[in-house]
Amino acid sequence: MNKKSPAGLYIHVPFCMQKCRYCDFYSFPKGGEYFDKYKKRVIEAIDFYGKRYARRYNSLYFGGGTPLLLGEEHLFDIMEAAKPFLTEDAEVTAEGNPGAAERIDFSALRKMGINRLSFGLQSADDRELEALGRIHTAKEAAETVKSAQRAGFDNISLDLMLGIPYQTEESLLKSIEFCSSLGVSHISCYMLKIEEGTPLAKSELRFLCADEEKSADLYLFACEELEKRGFSQYEISNFAKEGRRSFHNTRYWLDDEYIGIGPSAHSFMEGRRFYTERSIRDFLEVSFDENEKEESSGGSWDEFAMLRLRLSDGLDLAKLAEKFPEAPADEIFERAKPFEAPGLLKIKGKTISMTPKGFLLSNALTAEILF
Ligand code: SF4
Repeated sequence: MNKKSPAGLYIHVPFCMQKCRYCDFYSFPKGGEYFDKYKKRVIEAIDFYGKRYARRYNSLYFGGGTPLLLGEEHLFDIMEAAKPFLTEDAEVTAEGNPGAAERIDFSALRKMGINRLSFGLQSADDRELEALGRIHTAKEAAETVKSAQRAGFDNISLDLMLGIPYQTEESLLKSIEFCSSLGVSHISCYMLKIEEGTPLAKSELRFLCADEEKSADLYLFACEELEKRGFSQYEISNFAKEGRRSFHNTRYWLDDEYIGIGPSAHSFMEGRRFYTERSIRDFLEVSFDENEKEESSGGSWDEFAMLRLRLSDGLDLAKLAEKFPEAPADEIFERAKPFEAPGLLKIKGKTISMTPKGFLLSNALTAEILF
């Protein structure tokens, strides 16, 4: 293996117990008949990319889908194949659905090297969970988190959703307090996006979702309440206790390299961005080379700047100019200044960063200051 800096490894597991009403990720219910073949193919892919890039990985992320649905044995085999490529201190995360984790032996997960868990809670209100088509109650989610903690997991993340049917500031506050009282270290807070073609988009429930103005209020409210409880915002949708930022996800925003394995997974390696088709059959049957689709060349100054602006640490224009002498760093600085007084941006030295109010307008604001 060469001495290049370590990259990240993402493994997309496209299986779920049942499809949630709002979900547009590449995943499908159950899929048990694919587990063996899928695992074998993932192991082959780890070997294939290991040979192609000869890199070590300092983060591994099992995302989905519901990776824990695979069960300990399959996860163990994949971990064994990945271990020779992992650095000693690698952050290894597995996502799970609290409703599909009852039979999981969390101690076994820890023993095989998984050291971080991320559960899709979405809400601690059972009526809201029902409306989203989630398969768990708040009580079941709490039991899952406690059972993982008893097995020694001290780095657990929960996802919350904003703007969902029936949600009010009061119910959101209860969800935030619920997460906080469970002693988790990380919370991701996503705005619900009604994706065309999903059951939610076709149902009356869509009319119970928050409109843009109410979603914005909920977002600002969540940012404030999470900060009060020690979850400090480090990205548009991510909040962490001290020292508990997601190392793997942060690499996406720092423009660091990663390999994605599995249907619909994205990769960024050696200046090239590519992805694999949203198809389990293609993943199983088409050669890895042929199944790669080009995305963009990657590694440009504007991509670097856009990704940094998603982070609360912001964009250091001195670093931008040093890394990309062609970037219009001085012009960006001048264009950013007028947004400081209305509280959308913060400027410290040569670093510009968005406030929560700025994050709400991040696409427009990014375009305004970069181009
Ligand atoms: S558990 Fe996650 S990936 Fe699976 S259907 Fe629900 S939202 Fe989608």
